[in-house]
Amino acid sequence: MNALEIHGLSAGYGGQPIVRDIRLTVGTGEIVALLGANGAGKTTTLRAASGVLRHSGKLHLDGQDISGVSAARRVALGLAHVPQGRGTFVDFSVEENLRLGAYSVTSAQRIQDDTAYWFGVFPRLKERRAQLAGSLSGGEQQMLAIARAMMTRPKVLMCDEPSLGLAPAVTADLFVLLRDLAADRGTGILIVEQNAHLTLEIAARAYVLEHGEIAIEGSAATLSRNSEIQRAYLGIE
Ligand code: ATP
Repeated sequence: MNALEIHGLSAGYGGQPIVRDIRLTVGTGEIVALLGANGAGKTTTLRAASGVLRHSGKLHLDGQDISGVSAARRVALGLAHVPQGRGTFVDFSVEENLRLGAYSVTSAQRIQDDTAYWFGVFPRLKERRAQLAGSLSGGEQQMLAIARAMMTRPKVLMCDEPSLGLAPAVTADLFVLLRDLAADRGTGILIVEQNAHLTLEIAARAYVLEHGEIAIEGSAATLSRNSEIQRAYLGIE
């Protein structure tokens, strides 16, 4: 069964349609890339899927219909969203951010265990547990945003441009982390990225959005060899 299934999703702003009839799936432990030019509608697709933007169409999470469900409830059911550049509460400490991420978790023991777990994964965050999130480096903030989203133990994690503004070495570490989350914890990952090269290396499949519609889809290996994709997204003539 797919962890996330999206059928016929359409959404926009102020009555203006932006994305139309999006159909995509993310399997358990699968990394799926959503690529496309600036303004193609990638962020809009993630915002609609997470429920912060009104949409039509159907969404199923682990087989459960979540189409009419609020954004907060989608998080509680296991659909996490790390929005572009705004994944942390900058005026709260690192530790408070993790606790805020677990707002839908009722077990204090589980919150304590998961906080310890993520501090184990990210020793740099542990060292800075009392520091305000806004004073972390860009890479540390992105790691915190992902750890915070993972506090609900999501089935699917949607990441919007996680590499934005990060140095190449930090981006490489981040992508290793995402690959491990998918492989070791079975988290399905839907990733929107400008860095198509690196994304197609860790993704199993990819979709390409053009003017709000899915224009191309296929395995990451096939898409990396597609000359249209190479020209448009990989900088290869
Ligand atoms: P990028 O790679 O540049 O982030 P994207 O593929 O994520 O682009 P979106 O951010 O989804 O694209 O934007 C798609 C279209 O929707 C753009 O034309 C954008 O101007 C428009 N748009 C985005 N947010 C809003 C908003 N809040 N109100 C009105 N139009 C918006």
